[in-house]
Amino acid sequence: MLHHMELMCRRSHRPVRVSAAQFDVFEQMHYVCFHYEFEHDAFDVDEECSAGGCPSATIATGRGIVIGTARALAIESASDAPWANPTVHEYLEAFARWLEDSDGYYINQGRVPPGSGWEVVNDGLRAATTYE
Ligand SMILES: [Zn+2]
Ligand SMILES: [Zn+2]
Repeated sequence: MLHHMELMCRRSHRPVRVSAAQFDVFEQMHYVCFHYEFEHDAFDVDEECSAGGCPSATIATGRGIVIGTARALAIESASDAPWANPTVHEYLEAFARWLEDSDGYYINQGRVPPGSGWEVVNDGLRAATTYE
């Protein structure tokens, strides 16, 4: 009789720990392995696919999008855009509060929280201009 049974991923043949509670939901795989096996489809592994929560988003387009948003916000700020949080300290406080609540933000919109931290930061940079 087994006293300790380690869950093994069918795809990578490595132990499943973090997503062990969803082991059967993910067809006895890691979440990431499930994603690449069934959801990532015709996309290159290093390319972001169209499924919510794609792990490749973090190495694909995220950085460039954040750079673009930061530059656009700098221009808006320099031209006195009517932000609810116009000073640096108000803006950064709102940014921190928004990040704390970001899971709720996506759930309220019926969206899966993004697989890429870049995407969360990008949404937060924009939201912090007006977040109460
Ligand atoms: Zn795996
Ligand atoms: Zn994907």
